[in-house]
Amino acid sequence: MLRQIRRWWASRQPFPEAWREILRVDVPFYAQLSAGDRERLEERLKIFARTVHFEGAGGMEITDRVVVVIAACAARLVLNLPDEHYNRLKEIVVYPDAYRHPDRGSAILGEVNDFGTMVLSWRAVLEGLRDTDDGKNTAFHEFAHALDLGGGTFDGTPVLVSRCAYGPWAKVMSRYYKRLRGGETRRRVLREYGAINEAEFFAVATEAFFEKPRVVREKKPDLYEVLSDYYRTDPASELEAHLTGRRNSRSA
Ligand SMILES: [Zn+2]
Repeated sequence: MLRQIRRWWASRQPFPEAWREILRVDVPFYAQLSAGDRERLEERLKIFARTVHFEGAGGMEITDRVVVVIAACAARLVLNLPDEHYNRLKEIVVYPDAYRHPDRGSAILGEVNDFGTMVLSWRAVLEGLRDTDDGKNTAFHEFAHALDLGGGTFDGTPVLVSRCAYGPWAKVMSRYYKRLRGGETRRRVLREYGAINEAEFFAVATEAFFEKPRVVREKKPDLYEVLSDYYRTDPASELEAHLTGRRNSRSA
């Protein structure tokens, strides 16, 4: 209930101009969105920023810049999804750099646990954003896990648009997952990390879908289609429209 009140209150606040400046400087994909999408992104972003708790760790200070950049990544994924898909996400802990997992001891750039806590390396978030088309984006990756968790467990299947969407989803996702596990190496579209399990596959596929949509559409059209149905967006066409618009405005 409290969350609903906070959402309502957040939705009524104007979008701060200073936040827009942060988006222009630190979030390269923002400039590639259409005017309508930018407006929707801001709407989702401000609600996310004001309903999820941000906590600094390892000396990290939580500034508006940190909140806005991370919330922009969260908003990008759910731009066209109805309702609140991150409802199981309570808190985001941000470290300045990679951190050591207390149990595993290895360096980690991000993770999400069952209790709704996401951990992110700020450096990894910025690096993931800087290169908009390498198919590697730590924040998109972790937010895909958060969406997956919204579907109940980390199994690589978030809540889909309708019951009849689960069949095609399972068929297509498992085929490409198996292919990646089988060591698909030639001109790989998806990062090898996605071969760990179905949850990682979905997170890695999400990174590729948003960061190199035209490659995914060309090389794995049915994978592109199920992700496009789920996210209700067509980033390859959006990117083409953006590039055409830029070309036209240059020649005008
Ligand atoms: Zn992961």
